[in-house]
Amino acid sequence: MSQSVVSPRDHRIAWVQSIPFFAFHVFAAVAVFFVPFHWSYVVWALALYYLRMWVVTIGYHRYFAHRTFKTSRVAQFLLAFLAETSAQKGVLWWAANHRHHHRESDQPADVHSPLQDGFWWSHVGWILSDRYVETREEAIRDFARFPELRFLNRWYLLPPFLLAVGLFLIGGFPLLVWGFFVSTVVLWHGTFTINSLSHVFGSRRYRTTDTSRNNFLLALVTCGEGWHNNHHYHQNTANQGWFWWEVDLSFYLLKLLSALGLVWDLRLPSDAVKYAFRKYSLEERAELRSEPAVFGKARLAALAAQAKVAEAVKGATELAGPAPLPVLRRR
Ligand SMILES: [Zn+2]
Ligand SMILES: [Zn+2]
Repeated sequence: MSQSVVSPRDHRIAWVQSIPFFAFHVFAAVAVFFVPFHWSYVVWALALYYLRMWVVTIGYHRYFAHRTFKTSRVAQFLLAFLAETSAQKGVLWWAANHRHHHRESDQPADVHSPLQDGFWWSHVGWILSDRYVETREEAIRDFARFPELRFLNRWYLLPPFLLAVGLFLIGGFPLLVWGFFVSTVVLWHGTFTINSLSHVFGSRRYRTTDTSRNNFLLALVTCGEGWHNNHHYHQNTANQGWFWWEVDLSFYLLKLLSALGLVWDLRLPSDAVKYAFRKYSLEERAELRSEPAVFGKARLAALAAQAKVAEAVKGATELAGPAPLPVLRRR
């Protein structure tokens, strides 16, 4: 069984449907030059970036997609509402797609795999395609039973709209431009890096069936989501930085919320999970270190060639019986 070199999906972009997405970018980039500048606007943009990144990772990701802690029904609703101010579509849509990503990680059915489809598709192409607009109901039945979450999932433009109106009322057009448009565009791409860059750049501590990597810089940008190799190795932990030097802002906030009694039962990795890499052989460690950061068709072709060689060697070994020692020594 050789691996398919070309992904079975088509990579068409729904240009007309994607006009609002492009217009949002253009508006943000142009409007900043037409409003009076003040450093306080930059602070607003940055604060709204980090506040919303927090709720995206804590809410969409660690709570709704992975259920790594527990909270009340009211707090659950608030998490969903605040996460949706990021304008990343509905809470059920987001979490269901993400569960699918873990199930199919870097396999042909993965929605956003740089290995299968190249860097740009994993970063933004899949969002511009019209193939993934529906919520994968079957993947998120546990939360879809809450009518208030179904409401938010359906009316996902309401929270970002209310945020935009609020900012306009507080600081007029300049604050709307900086606090909503600029901050949201940066937030989008900050979030997208986890689908693209964290499967390309960084180190691999754990052997996983995908290309996930740990990356300190991405962890800073995404409040701890950059420890993506840890996360793909064991998804169900409230923290993604597992060692003291693995900065994980979202987890620090979760600890605070837990001390206040607003969330509880934070799931943490066992020592067997954390230290699993100690059991790897020298060859396995070397293999992890040497995985190249080349993706898309080139990497798939290399993998297919590798699989063919392995198959041929296996066939030859079977025909010839056990390999004599001198051949083994020459590898
Ligand atoms: Zn991933
Ligand atoms: Zn995840």
